[in-house]
Amino acid sequence: MKIIMLGAPGAGKGTQAKKIAAKYDIPHISTGDIFRANIKNGTELGNKAKTYMDQGLLVPDELVVDLVVDRVQQDDCKNGYVLDGFPRTIPQAEALDKALAALGDKVDYAIDVNVPDENIVNRMGGRRACVGCGATYHLVYAPTKTEGICDVCGKELILRDDDKPETVQKRLNVYHEQTQPLIDYYTKAGILKTVDGTVDINDVFAAIVEILGA
Ligand code: ADP
Ligand code: AMP
Repeated sequence: MKIIMLGAPGAGKGTQAKKIAAKYDIPHISTGDIFRANIKNGTELGNKAKTYMDQGLLVPDELVVDLVVDRVQQDDCKNGYVLDGFPRTIPQAEALDKALAALGDKVDYAIDVNVPDENIVNRMGGRRACVGCGATYHLVYAPTKTEGICDVCGKELILRDDDKPETVQKRLNVYHEQTQPLIDYYTKAGILKTVDGTVDINDVFAAIVEILGA
């Protein structure tokens, strides 16, 4: 099962992608996590990506396409994967389709987690990320057991630089201009499925399971 998660920044793509990966036993591939790991390790890719990410802009297509095309051909992706945060532009979607077609393969589902802009600002302000393992929480909707401490690895939580209010609006604009056209793209491809992302995390997941099959 090859799945793409679509939706605005903060819509809950990562939250749902992790649950899908666990239930269906497929890897969760987040380009944002890959970039953040590269930034943490001080790699050349990380240094390049950081300048765009900090401004709320997309990293250029050429820095992300090959990385994903290589990743989905690794052994653990044989039974499928859930892509979170990729594609984010039409050229990225076309490049993915072309690379998969060359392998005799295709995406099965593009799941759009639909959340209006008004809710997004609230979501992003409350999102907290672990400095150690990158797990994400929400101060109100998905709190940790001990305040400020990651449930998974015990490290501290931070507000991501790009989740600061001044950057969130910019990211939303970028989403509407560059990423939202993918909804049309995957509708035309006949694989778009939309779920209401404003309801409780477990209810969003139940709607996704209904689509993918139990
Ligand atoms: P994305 O990967 O789309 O950027 P996340 O999965 O990181 O978004 O979710 C953004 C924030 O909103 C996180 O703090 C997360 O805990 C919270 N969140 C995710 N889904 C829901 C939901 N259905 N209701 C309330 N909060 C949610
Ligand atoms: P995310 O964790 O998915 O919210 O991504 C965080 C940031 O990483 C984005 O705001 C972009 O700057 C960058 N990024 C992640 N995925 C992509 C992508 N597919 N194309 C371009 N930039 C990306």
